[in-house]
Amino acid sequence: MISIYDNLVFTPENFDTTSESSINIILRNQEFLTSKTSEILLFEEDDLKWTEMSFSNKHFLGYLNQRPCYVSVLDDSSRPSDEMMLSPLRNLLGRIPDSLFVICSRSLQISEWYAANQFCGYCGKKTSMHDTERAMVCSCNNVMVYPRISPCIIVLVTKGEELLLAHNKNFPGDFYSTLAGFIEPGETAESAIEREVFEEVNINVTNIQYFGSQSWPFPSQLMLGYHAEYLDGEVKPDGEEIDKAGWFHYDNLPQVPTGNISISGQLIESYLEKLKS
Ligand SMILES: [Zn+2]
Repeated sequence: MISIYDNLVFTPENFDTTSESSINIILRNQEFLTSKTSEILLFEEDDLKWTEMSFSNKHFLGYLNQRPCYVSVLDDSSRPSDEMMLSPLRNLLGRIPDSLFVICSRSLQISEWYAANQFCGYCGKKTSMHDTERAMVCSCNNVMVYPRISPCIIVLVTKGEELLLAHNKNFPGDFYSTLAGFIEPGETAESAIEREVFEEVNINVTNIQYFGSQSWPFPSQLMLGYHAEYLDGEVKPDGEEIDKAGWFHYDNLPQVPTGNISISGQLIESYLEKLKS
């Protein structure tokens, strides 16, 4: 087993062109094999041969510290040893370095893409992996199914010293966050922001500024983060997704995400820094 949590350098690639022995991350049903203290385990290829675990498939992810890195999908019948357990990535957020998050995010999305595209959506025949691209193909009409990423907007709306924060019905307790939603077919990111903010809290925004993005593999979102300013309207939560929303002064914020976990936290922290500078 490898203990190299620090100084992990990961470069995503689709095909392994080396013959070097690999480093393996292991998952089953979208949960990662970890120690009992929730540290993700990275296995040397040789070490895997000596475990009693068997795998249904494996996928190349890229190079980790210049060595090939794979995700191996644990067979349903395999039982991890008593010193190990399976942990969902959500429980590990904020506790793993960014490079390991990239590996985990890629592992979840590639293994899910492979599992969900075993048959052609046009003709129903069994698909196969393309030889030179990360795609599933079918003989019927050269359909190529690439891993799908769903773009979403996430936006911090502000009004001077106040931040608009919302409580989603599914959030625990008094946890608040920025607004977010999927981009609809045909929409630009900016028009998705205007629509989502109006639908969810009934206000109009202006001066939309791009901030940055984050992969969010639950299951396959790319979160595009923006700042926006209040234009007009009175805050009224939609009652469906959002049950509470309001303006919060920057020195009296409710419980919000932190920047080491999500881009929502980074949007909030960057605005606070701007106000205080
Ligand atoms: Zn087909």
